[in-house]
Amino acid sequence: MNLDRPISELFALNRPLRSIEFFPPKDASGVEALRQTAAAVRKIAWDFVSVTYGAGGTTRERTAQVSAMLKDDFGFTVMPHLTCVGHSRAELTEIADRIHAAGFRNIMTLRGDPPKGATAFTPPPDGLAHASELAALLKAQHPDFCLGVAGYPEKHPEAPSFESDLDFLKRKIDAGAAFVTTQLFFDNAIFYRFVDRCRAAGITVPIVPGIMPVLSLKQVQRITSLKGGSSLPATLARRLDIAAENAEVVEIVGIDWALTQIRDLLAHGAPGYHLYILNRAECALALAAGLAE
Ligand SMILES: Cc1cc2nc3c(=O)[nH]c(=O)nc-3n(C[C@H](O)[C@H](O)[C@H](O)COP(=O)(O)OP(=O)(O)OC[C@H]3O[C@@H](n4cnc5c(N)ncnc54)[C@H](O)[C@@H]3O)c2cc1C
Repeated sequence: MNLDRPISELFALNRPLRSIEFFPPKDASGVEALRQTAAAVRKIAWDFVSVTYGAGGTTRERTAQVSAMLKDDFGFTVMPHLTCVGHSRAELTEIADRIHAAGFRNIMTLRGDPPKGATAFTPPPDGLAHASELAALLKAQHPDFCLGVAGYPEKHPEAPSFESDLDFLKRKIDAGAAFVTTQLFFDNAIFYRFVDRCRAAGITVPIVPGIMPVLSLKQVQRITSLKGGSSLPATLARRLDIAAENAEVVEIVGIDWALTQIRDLLAHGAPGYHLYILNRAECALALAAGLAE
């Protein structure tokens, strides 16, 4: 069994890290499709890949299955995600042991969303209420875990203020997290402001911008209409409006916008970029090709 390298060691190399996020498929045929996606993007030297954790049910087991496939069959450094949703402390401890025993050394450490329809997150009996508690539990159990945590350049929707959100982000770092990956955003000025606020609040770890190219109008409408969703710059909105009647043109506009964002982020010294590619190989390849020098 090969042991994954902690991502903190990669950040220490002082070069921008590039990573992509997969989500676990619903069924076995989806796993096969994901295998093909992984094969298609393998030629790019991703520093790591991450695999999201579902809200419940079988997709959770698939996070473990797909993470193992990506690590053992493709040689990626893999960061499985884990949330507090629906798990007791004892279950989280057991899951963490399994992740560690399988050779993973990186975990994206999250609270998770309230169930559909609920506005507040209620921890399960003997469960955890915040990602900072999960970070503390994971580090106490396996100090060699390298933990990533989520940051929100436009504020987490449940947070009453930016200041409190930053305080709680700092608690996650104080609990042992090594880096922050942000929620997606379309306007880099929002990210730069967020980084400045984090630094002023004493958060010194790498803050990795999360970028999702617009791949369809439906997707962008969903993202921007969510409570606390990402704001859409007027220029991007106008471009998408012109492209609206042709799905392929929408994708071209989305990829072009994401490329411009990433080039600007790297020029401003971002520690890398994390791509939300929605399991689409052509999207990852288009971005990697557009960034190649
Ligand atoms: C990079 C990234 C990856 C993600 N991956 C997944 C995934 O795989 N699966 C999934 O289900 N969801 C995922 N999400 C979504 C995430 O689960 C939700 O945004 C969730 O609502 C918050 O999770 P968190 O870890 O940021 O929570 P927390 O950091 O716990 O924060 C949640 C809210 O509680 C507040 N808070 C934090 N600590 C305290 C405290 N001590 N007292 C009072 N309030 C507090 C915060 O200000 C915030 O408003 C991801 C999000 C990001 C940005």
